[in-house]
Amino acid sequence: MSHHPTTDDVEGGKSSPAAHHEGLADVRARISDAASEAGRPEDAVTLVTVTKTFDVEHIRPVIEAGQRVFGENRVQEAQAKWPMLKDEYPDIDLHLIGPLQTNKAKEAVALFDCIETVDRPKLARILAGEMEKQGRKLRLFVQVNTGEEPQKAGVLPENTDAFIAQCRDEFKLDIDGLMCIPPAGEEPSLHFALLKKIAERNGLAGLSMGMSGDFDIAVRFGATHVRVGSAIFGARSYQIA
Ligand SMILES: *Cc1c(COP(=O)(O)O)cnc(C)c1O
Repeated sequence: MSHHPTTDDVEGGKSSPAAHHEGLADVRARISDAASEAGRPEDAVTLVTVTKTFDVEHIRPVIEAGQRVFGENRVQEAQAKWPMLKDEYPDIDLHLIGPLQTNKAKEAVALFDCIETVDRPKLARILAGEMEKQGRKLRLFVQVNTGEEPQKAGVLPENTDAFIAQCRDEFKLDIDGLMCIPPAGEEPSLHFALLKKIAERNGLAGLSMGMSGDFDIAVRFGATHVRVGSAIFGARSYQIA
């Protein structure tokens, strides 16, 4: 299954807000099945519900169904829908899962609770400064470009240990874990195993890996966070890389 759904089939089965309940329940059940098959506790895996391209009308029923952890991949899009929802539901945990430009770092620190895409020294330094300035401590994941794809964000695997050390020593940042997006069309388990290996040797507990097409596999490989959008909301009507 593709990691990057491009379909414009918004008429698909889960496109109505009411149907998202069903998608959410189904994904939760699959996560707990995969966890128990792997001998992991049910609560070992956090579902990050990816809401990019979906508006508040679609998101609200999922919040009302009890979901609290969400992911967006663009700062500007997130600013248009989440401040209001976070006022209403203060326990929402909002993750940035897309690339972050340093000129958006201030806004990102103000809005998000976790940034999963820390991938270069300049960004790490600016995030450290913004968190200090705003008195906000976000959780941070380092994105690793496990497939070494030129067009994809993330630190190369061979540079990851040094980057994590730099974040810790130079920028005094606590890193919670690692995140990856395996290349479309490749066996994801190889990438999940690599990410886990890098996390282990750096003493990191968090592993954000697995999307709609492969989250059950990711759970078997030790994911602590899976980022799932279309399996809950149905196909997106436009694509975001
Ligand atoms: C869109 C996106 C997801 C969710 O993708 P689905 O295939 O819809 O589950 C996960 N992670 C990132 C980084 C994304 O951009």
